[in-house]
Amino acid sequence: MNCFRVLPILILTTLTTFAQAPKEPNSAKPVPPAVVKSFDPAAIDKSADPCTDFYQYACGSWTKSNPIPSDQTRWMRSFVQVNERNRYLLWQELDTAAAHPTSALEKQYGNFFAACMDTDLIEKKGLEPLQPVFKQIDALKDAHKLASLVGELEAEGSTVTIFNFGVEQDDKDSTKQIAAIGQSGLSLPDRDYYLVDNARFQEIRKQYIAHVTKMFTLGGDAPEKAAREAAAVLEIETALAKASTSRTDLRDPANRYHIYTVADLQKLTPEFDYPLYFKDIKVRSFETLNVATPDFFKGLEELIAKEPIDSWKAYFRWHTLHSVASDLPKAFFDENFAFFGQTLAGQKEPTPRWKRCTSMTDGALGEAVGQDWVKKNFPPAAKASMDQLVASLEKSLGDDIQTLPWMTDATKKAAEEKLALIRNKIGYPEKWRSYEALKVERGDLLGNLRRSSVFENDWNLDHLGKPVDEKEWGMTPPTVNAYYDPSFNDINFPAGILQPPFFDFSVDPAVNFGGIGVVIGHEMTHGFDDEGSQYDGHGNLREWQTAEDRKAFTERTDCVANEYSGFEAVPAQGDQPALKLNGKLTLGENTADNGGLRIAYKALLETLAAQGKSVNDQIGGYTEAQRYFLGFAQVWCENKTEQTARQEVLTNPHSPGRWRVNGTVQNFDQFGKAFGCKQGQPMLPAHSCRVW
Ligand SMILES: [Zn+2]
Repeated sequence: MNCFRVLPILILTTLTTFAQAPKEPNSAKPVPPAVVKSFDPAAIDKSADPCTDFYQYACGSWTKSNPIPSDQTRWMRSFVQVNERNRYLLWQELDTAAAHPTSALEKQYGNFFAACMDTDLIEKKGLEPLQPVFKQIDALKDAHKLASLVGELEAEGSTVTIFNFGVEQDDKDSTKQIAAIGQSGLSLPDRDYYLVDNARFQEIRKQYIAHVTKMFTLGGDAPEKAAREAAAVLEIETALAKASTSRTDLRDPANRYHIYTVADLQKLTPEFDYPLYFKDIKVRSFETLNVATPDFFKGLEELIAKEPIDSWKAYFRWHTLHSVASDLPKAFFDENFAFFGQTLAGQKEPTPRWKRCTSMTDGALGEAVGQDWVKKNFPPAAKASMDQLVASLEKSLGDDIQTLPWMTDATKKAAEEKLALIRNKIGYPEKWRSYEALKVERGDLLGNLRRSSVFENDWNLDHLGKPVDEKEWGMTPPTVNAYYDPSFNDINFPAGILQPPFFDFSVDPAVNFGGIGVVIGHEMTHGFDDEGSQYDGHGNLREWQTAEDRKAFTERTDCVANEYSGFEAVPAQGDQPALKLNGKLTLGENTADNGGLRIAYKALLETLAAQGKSVNDQIGGYTEAQRYFLGFAQVWCENKTEQTARQEVLTNPHSPGRWRVNGTVQNFDQFGKAFGCKQGQPMLPAHSCRVW
C-alpha cells in the first residue's frame, strides 16, 4: 500500500465524521435500514427536462423527499444508505459477539466493540490513560530531542506526529517495498484552511483557536496558558501547511517520488535526528527512501530552529487530545463535535455511539469481523456474477481502445497489454490477516486503540524489503466502495458494494450495467487516467505511450479538466460566494466516470444483442437505454450540508453527484439519443470531451 498516494476510489472513504453520543443509552437498539431499490421511478422528477438537467430529472423527487438525517453530513441513495445497512448488519454481529462469543475471533472483536461502548468506564477514567504521554511531552527539554519524542510516541501507539513514515511499493520497481516519508501534521481538513485569506477561512481559524483553547482548558490548563498554547499550535500548523504540497500537485506521481539516501534526508532537516527516530520505531535498516515531499522537510528545519520548546510541547499535547477526542469523556467529545462536526461539516447531531463503535471495530479488526460478515451476507452466486460482469467490461474496454481515433497502433498495443495485466479482486481476501498479536482488553478502549496502532505500524514496517504480496486488500469486506491500485494494477470490489442498488439479481441487465457495470468500468479506466496511465501493466512508473499519443492524451484530459472547472460545485448562499469545481483535482475521477459510463454501455449492448434484445426495448415505460442511464444516475442522488459541500471542493478528488451524472452524460452522445435530446441542449452540447 502506498502511503502518500490517495488510491483512486469510487467515493470518499470516510462517510462519518468525528462524532459519538455518550448520552445515548447503550440499550437503544438500532433499527434495520431497508434494502435500497435498484431502479426507482419514484425518485424521478418528471417536471424536469432530462435534456436540460439529467441529475434533476433522475434524482429530483428523491432529493426533495430525503433530507439529510441529523446525524449525517451527507445522504445518498446508494453509498451512504447501503453503508448504513452494512453497518447495521455488522453491528448485529458485534453486539452478539460482545455478549456471547463462540470463537476466539468473536471474543477478540466482541471485546473491542464492548470497550468502545462502555461510556461509564470512559467517563470514570477521564484523562488518566493519557498521563504517561503528557509526561513524556513535558520532559522534552530542547528541540534536538524532538526525534526521540516522535519516535517513542509512535512506537507506543500514539498517532501523534509531524510527518508520515511507512513502507510502500517502489513506484519505479513495483516488486520492491521501500521506506517512504511525507508531509502531515495538520488538524484542519486542508492546507487552504490555514493559508487562504478570505472571510470564511479567517472566521474558521478564529473558531479553531477558540476550540483548541477550550480543549486545553478542559485538559486542566489555566485559560491564559491555554490561549498561548492554542496560538502556538496554529503557528506550527500554519508553517507545516506552507511547507506542504497541494493535493492537486500531489496527484502527479513525479511530485511525490524522490529517492534520497538517509544522509541526504538528514541534510534537509539537520535539526531532526532521523537515525534516532528510525531506531525508536524499530524499522529494519535501509539506505534509501522515498522522500515524497522534500520541501516539507526543508520547512521543518526552519520551524524546529525557530519555535520555542513550549510551542512544540503545546503542539504535541494538542494532537494527543485531538487524536482521541471522541474517545474521551463527554466534555471533550462535545467540544470536539461542536467544532469538527457542527462548525466544519454542518452535522446537527453526533453519530450514535453504536455506529461509531461498529465502524471503529471494522477499522481495527476488519479482516476478523469481515470473515464472519461475508459468510452471512455474500452469496457465492454474487461472486460468480461479478466475474462475468468484469469479463464483459474488460472486453468492452479492449474494443474501445481499438476504436480510439487519437491513438496510434503502437500505443493501442501497449494499452491492451496493460489491460490484460489488470488483476481482479472480488468480495474478500483469499487469505485473511491474523490478529493473534493484537491484545484486546474489554475495559480499555484507549489501550486497544494504542495497541491496534502499534499492530498496524508493525505490520506495515514489516513489509520493508520483503516481496510484494499481491493478495493483500486495502478495504475491509463490508465496505461500500471500490478502488484501483496503480502499483498492483488491480481493481478491488469489496463484498459490501455488491448489492442493490449497484447490483441486483432481480432486475434487468440495463440497470445492473448502469450500476455496478459503470463502477467496474470506472475502476478499470483509472488504470488509464492522467495518473494511472503513467504506470505500466506491471505497476511501474514508466511511459508506455508514444510522445505523439501522450500529447493527444493530454489535450483530451485538458479538455475534461477545463470542462469540469466550469461546473458550479456549490451555489452562492447568504454571504458565501458560489464555488466552482477544481477540474485538475477531480480529473482522474472524472476521466474514470466518463470512461466507465461509455464502456459499460458498450458491454450492455453486447449482452442485449446476445439475448436477441435491443436498447430500444421497453420495460415499465422506459427503454433499456433510458433504464441504463437512470440506473447509473440514481446511484448518485445525494443531499449534503453546505459546509461539507464547501469542504469537499477543496479536499475531495470526486465531483459532486450532480456533475458525476451531468458531466458524464453530456460527454456521451448515446445519452442524448436515448432521451431524444436536440443538439445544443445542455446534455447534448455541440462540443464535448472524450478521453476513453
Ligand atoms: Zn475512482
